[in-house]
Amino acid sequence: MSDHILTFNAGSSSLKFAAYALGDRDRDPALALIGQVEKIGGDAHLSAKAHGETVADQAVPAADHAGATAAILRLIGERLHAAHIPAVGHRVVHGGPLYDRPVVVTDAIVDELARFNSFAPLHQPHNLAGIAAARAAFPAALQVACFDTAFHRAHPFVNDVFALPREYYDKGVRRYGFHGLSYEFITGHLAEVAPELAAGRIAVAHLGNGASMCAIRAGKSVGSTMGFTALDGLPMGTRCGQLDPGVLLYLMDQEGLSAAEISDLLFRRSGLLGLSGISNDMRTLEASDDPAAAQAIDYFVFRIRRELGAMAAIVGGLDAVVFTGGIGENSAFIRRSVCRDMDWLGLSIDEDANARNAPEFTAADSQVRVFALKTDEERVIARAAAALLAAAAA
Ligand code: ADP
Repeated sequence: MSDHILTFNAGSSSLKFAAYALGDRDRDPALALIGQVEKIGGDAHLSAKAHGETVADQAVPAADHAGATAAILRLIGERLHAAHIPAVGHRVVHGGPLYDRPVVVTDAIVDELARFNSFAPLHQPHNLAGIAAARAAFPAALQVACFDTAFHRAHPFVNDVFALPREYYDKGVRRYGFHGLSYEFITGHLAEVAPELAAGRIAVAHLGNGASMCAIRAGKSVGSTMGFTALDGLPMGTRCGQLDPGVLLYLMDQEGLSAAEISDLLFRRSGLLGLSGISNDMRTLEASDDPAAAQAIDYFVFRIRRELGAMAAIVGGLDAVVFTGGIGENSAFIRRSVCRDMDWLGLSIDEDANARNAPEFTAADSQVRVFALKTDEERVIARAAAALLAAAAA
């Protein structure tokens, strides 16, 4: 049996996993098994495919992430031997101010990362629980943490800071930016499909349940819509996006909400769900004829268009715009709505190519190229784990 690298990617109510076969050092790890447990805490469901064939599609008892991890480890145990798993890569949402690249996990690093739980309460505790479970299941394997913040760590000071007294910056109250694994994948992928854009000015819109945008110049992040937590910027499935901080003062002083209640409101009850009162799911909203669904979509699109202008200003004009994430990859309607009347930016789209979900849908007369590319955070994690494994063996 060949060696495999595992990847774990925990979301608020889902846990994605994959196994990649390690080949030659120069070859990308090859996907062997991929799946997820969805609706953790509800009607939890495990699905998985090995080499394209369904190997699991069933309800599982997963009241929490520990239950989901147990179900996944059972499935992996049926197919792979622990002795052939030399490394496990983990998506960790928050790496704080220090980490600008993946690291091999130690006890001290786990303790340090736990300090960022309150910055990303929907993800970070689950990420760390996944690391604990993988360390217990594969004690001999290298555990590698890959941070969603790392891609942005080199962004300029003006994009790293809030205009608060300096002591808060020194304590780590900074603009971190997230979705870095997705941006890293898209940057690399775009360099393959359009190498002439590798040195260019790119705006990437990662539009999934979580949503953010990133301005990239010559492959490096220079600005992002997300800040200190994964709440800022665009409205999301259940998160509010940009908010006047005065609203928080009002909620505390006048409405008497506690910090925990405000956190629940901003992370879990706002965004598309809060505005529509119907759903956090874009497919459901697009299918609805309720005016509140249309208003929620309008706000989502409005904020993306506004931030697209900001991204263009940050990098001095755009060479390309890339849509990714579940909505960005699949919703021709949202892409078309975002791109309408963008002549001022030199951007116009090929409507037919957009409707077909073609990877590139640039109009013949457009100066800015427009793409819809599938992201692959798992692959970025697997590549990082393979690289650190090779470095440890060297
Ligand atoms: P996560 O951030 O949890 O990984 P995804 O990237 O999978 O989320 O994105 C989930 C979002 O993508 C949901 O709002 C879902 O409705 C939306 N989506 C998926 N397919 C489509 C589609 N064909 N049209 C519109 N929205 C879609």
